[in-house]
Amino acid sequence: MANQFDYDVIIAGGGPAGSSAAIHLTMAGARVLLVEQKKFPRPKLCGEFISPECAPHFERLGVAEQMLAASPARLTETVFYSRQQRSVSVPSAWFGANGVALGLSRAEMDERLLRRASDAGAVVLEEAQVVNLLFDNDRVAGVTIKHTGKHTGYRAPVTIDATGRARALARRVDQSHHKTKSHRASLVAFKAHLEDARVAPGVCEIYFYRGGYGGLSSIENGLSNLCFIASARAVRECGTDAERVMREVVCQNGRAAYALEHARASTPWLAVSLEGFGRHTVTPTTGLLAIGDAASFIDPFTGSGMLMALESGELAASVIGDRIAAIRRGAGILELETLYRAAYKTRFHSRLRICSLMRRAAFVPGLAQLAIRVFGRSDHLRHRLSRATRGSSPETYRLPGRLNG
Ligand SMILES: Cc1cc2nc3c(=O)[nH]c(=O)nc-3n(C[C@H](O)[C@H](O)[C@H](O)COP(=O)(O)OP(=O)(O)OC[C@H]3O[C@@H](n4cnc5c(N)ncnc54)[C@H](O)[C@@H]3O)c2cc1C
Repeated sequence: MANQFDYDVIIAGGGPAGSSAAIHLTMAGARVLLVEQKKFPRPKLCGEFISPECAPHFERLGVAEQMLAASPARLTETVFYSRQQRSVSVPSAWFGANGVALGLSRAEMDERLLRRASDAGAVVLEEAQVVNLLFDNDRVAGVTIKHTGKHTGYRAPVTIDATGRARALARRVDQSHHKTKSHRASLVAFKAHLEDARVAPGVCEIYFYRGGYGGLSSIENGLSNLCFIASARAVRECGTDAERVMREVVCQNGRAAYALEHARASTPWLAVSLEGFGRHTVTPTTGLLAIGDAASFIDPFTGSGMLMALESGELAASVIGDRIAAIRRGAGILELETLYRAAYKTRFHSRLRICSLMRRAAFVPGLAQLAIRVFGRSDHLRHRLSRATRGSSPETYRLPGRLNG
């Protein structure tokens, strides 16, 4: 039976979620194919704020030293600024681990994780796109990949969608998605690396303005990352020119106007439209699990999307790893789904609910200002709210030893 499969697990998407799952699974002895459509290193639209709780993940993944060797900026505080320049601070120490967040470009971070997956024993294909799912009866049994102009099928008892917000695999089986009328995205996100921004050293600055918010913080090589979200309407009014949106929309916030006064983009602007936030189905169909943004897209102002990507990759690897012998015999797939769904819910639902409430507040005119005033008065309230956007305890998952199934 085992021979009918080329791999134990096929993972589509080599971002932090896909690489995390691939590393944990290969370290546990599983045969893994990791498929990434881009050639790394590649730029990625992201605030590039790596929250402190990622540090223990990097340790377990065996990339902690490589991350530090890239000379990331050390970020000890996040300061939220209302349009009228009221501010509240959230120390990175509240998020545990070593209490320091890192500012590191996704080009550097993602490449280190992908190379580690390959070194750990995963077969990594870059510039290879997963274009379809293979089915045995009603269950997913692998994927079709387009690589160097050729289509090839690879079979595995478990396939993981780690394609980020694209949800390239889950969308193929997500009936609710097909039924939903296509709607215009109401928000657009932009990112560039900047020179000569006046961002306070060691601080991630978050600016609220009408219809959105943005973050500015240092990364490696003395550059800063500016990443912001604006309403699609405001973006159209600025002729979809990122630089104009920065000056006319983001700089409505007084602190942003000061910090960005002399700033110049040193990379091309990246832009994406955002269709929505929140949860999707984490087991879209039998034989297919979703991790990272493909499972849930947490609000960017929490600076915890990459953490959730690493965590959910580890969680899926743990649930699969525990059952790999049965899975190789073609059994236990339904149990795997149930367990992963339950573990995912326990781990992530509470923080996703809190973030959804906070997001609504962030986009209501005047409410961000009020929240900053109220939370500014109490360290205790701020601490509790910040912690609620994360997991309740920095628990790790039990990963199996080397597999012999
Ligand atoms: C505006 C904005 C700011 C953000 N800022 C932060 C922040 O500061 N800190 C933070 O922690 N999080 C932040 N996030 C969230 C963070 O970027 C994501 O949570 C994180 O990238 C999710 O990782 P992932 O591996 O699930 O997906 P991704 O990082 O999106 O990786 C998915 C990978 O899949 C590949 N792929 C897609 N389709 C296919 C296919 N068909 N075949 C093969 N490969 C495919 C893609 O090329 C990509 O490399 C931000 C998000 C946004 C939108």
